[in-house]
Amino acid sequence: MKPLNNPESCFVCRRRADGLGVGGDNAIGWLCQICADQGHGAKALDMPTPEFDRYEIAALAAAGDRAGAYLDSLTRTDLATLHPEEWTHVCRLIVTGFGDAIRREVAGAVVRDGFGKVTHAALELPVEMSHAQITAQEIEEESD
Ligand SMILES: [Zn+2]
Repeated sequence: MKPLNNPESCFVCRRRADGLGVGGDNAIGWLCQICADQGHGAKALDMPTPEFDRYEIAALAAAGDRAGAYLDSLTRTDLATLHPEEWTHVCRLIVTGFGDAIRREVAGAVVRDGFGKVTHAALELPVEMSHAQITAQEIEEESD
């Protein structure tokens, strides 16, 4: 479900919204600066909700994989054994991983109108997004 009409939160990635919005009177999709700059607002708004839901689920899975890779690098999966800083890092990886992944999913999507005409093409990913797939090795380096 697209979380529209919440001026506090980006409806694409859930970061803090930056006062930028797309849409009309009753359905405004508020955006963060990153999603606005990368052109995800109108595309995500025009995307059928079930399609957005699929990308959101894929992004959640990618964020979970990112956090799981970090836990694997610690060789501990029992969350109760984590040091508070390790737990904070797991949470950070999930939150930032979701944002990175949903932007990647929306960027790669092709949105069509009811007649099959492409209204939003797949976007070229910015260079920094091509590195969004973080390996366990990179996560170890991040946590040092
Ligand atoms: Zn955003």
